[in-house]
Amino acid sequence: MRQYQYAKPLNKLINELSKLPGIGGKTAQRLAFHILSMDDKDAFALADAVRNAKTAMTYCSVCGNLTDQDPCAICSDDTRDKSTICVVENPRDVAAMEKIREYRGYYHVLHGAISPMDGIGPDDINLKSLIPRLHDEAVKELIIATNPNIEGEATAMYIARLIKPSGIKVSRIAHGIPVGGDLEYADEVTLLKAMEGRRQL
Ligand SMILES: [Zn+2]
Repeated sequence: MRQYQYAKPLNKLINELSKLPGIGGKTAQRLAFHILSMDDKDAFALADAVRNAKTAMTYCSVCGNLTDQDPCAICSDDTRDKSTICVVENPRDVAAMEKIREYRGYYHVLHGAISPMDGIGPDDINLKSLIPRLHDEAVKELIIATNPNIEGEATAMYIARLIKPSGIKVSRIAHGIPVGGDLEYADEVTLLKAMEGRRQL
């Protein structure tokens, strides 16, 4: 029996959608049919938004955060607290931290965590660019806010050991965040408590 084949343009759309995280074949089909049922205006706006965001957004050359200007708005903000740099795994964590409005320092985004099991070493994450930032005498504390899982802990320990000789205080956020949980999914109160309860490494 010959299998039913979608027309090529539809098939292509389903294929691209199915590459998104959490989108299986069935969902990709449903979304593709939905997009085709939308007004031209809305469907094209979606396509334009993808293209524009992808073109306009880049990574900050200082902190690694996702931005449409370089350096990013946070790194360019002189009113922030220059004494602290908070190290996070990804740009979504910066957004989570900014939401609690309690932290006023700067960030450094690693774009991952050290994971020997997956062959990800210190050179595979955005760590090298952190070192020159610490030569700024204004920097007094490095707050490591990597996720509370094996990779996040390994990364925190590695950075602590690396930075210790410089005399800069290295602290780790407290475990208000469930072990194995992701920083970006922590609620604001939990994240605030985790920051307040940070301990020196
Ligand atoms: Zn930046």
